[in-house]
Amino acid sequence: MKAIEISNVSKHYDNRAVVDNVSFSVDKGEFVSIVGKSGSGKSTLMNMIGSMILPDSGKIIVGGKDIVSFREREVADYRNKTIGFIFQDFHLEPTYTVYENVTLPLEIAGDRRDMKNRAKKVLERFGMSEHISKKVTALSGGEQQRVCIARAVIREPELLLADEPCGNLDTVNSDIIMKLLRELSDNGTTVLLVTHNLEAASMTDRIITLQDGALISDKRTRI
Ligand code: ADP
Ligand code: MG
Repeated sequence: MKAIEISNVSKHYDNRAVVDNVSFSVDKGEFVSIVGKSGSGKSTLMNMIGSMILPDSGKIIVGGKDIVSFREREVADYRNKTIGFIFQDFHLEPTYTVYENVTLPLEIAGDRRDMKNRAKKVLERFGMSEHISKKVTALSGGEQQRVCIARAVIREPELLLADEPCGNLDTVNSDIIMKLLRELSDNGTTVLLVTHNLEAASMTDRIITLQDGALISDKRTRI
């Protein structure tokens, strides 16, 4: 079974296809980047895969499930369990500590079993243990992004969606984030990364290029 199967997906705004009949599939554990100019439809595509918005037509199957037909309850479950989402501008709760941010998905899911240890473990993995009690606003951008990844993966999602996660970071911190995403993919998480940085894209297994909403190229970076 494929991790993701997208067939003939389109999304229109103002009578214009911003995602235009896109089809591709992704294997479990694959690390795929989506590149393209600003406005080419990358975020719209990611938001459809993340079930934040619905396509006008086409199929999106994730882990064998047709996510387009999900009811409200199933969408909430899907976002909370199956996927993790990382954004360019972090979307952390500024008044919360690192611990409170990272455990937020567990609180929302009512999944408090072994919460402290799970938070400690995931923060340790990303080199963030010493910051566990700090307010996230006291951290650098690179550190905040690591908190975001920790929060996105604490429930061990099958699929990690990252929309320009290095967009606000310098090269040193971008490299750290790319290495963490690679590690997650090597451990079996399917990772979909939107980036405008071709160097970062070349570190993934495969590069999909969008232009004016259409998929114009799909290439493996290694054999
Ligand atoms: P990218 O992430 O590649 O920069 P987006 O997916 O954000 O591109 O946007 C693709 C196009 O769709 C852009 O022209 C954008 O202005 C338009 N667009 C995105 N969201 C909306 C919306 N909610 N309403 C109208 N137009 C939108
Ligand atoms: Mg975007």
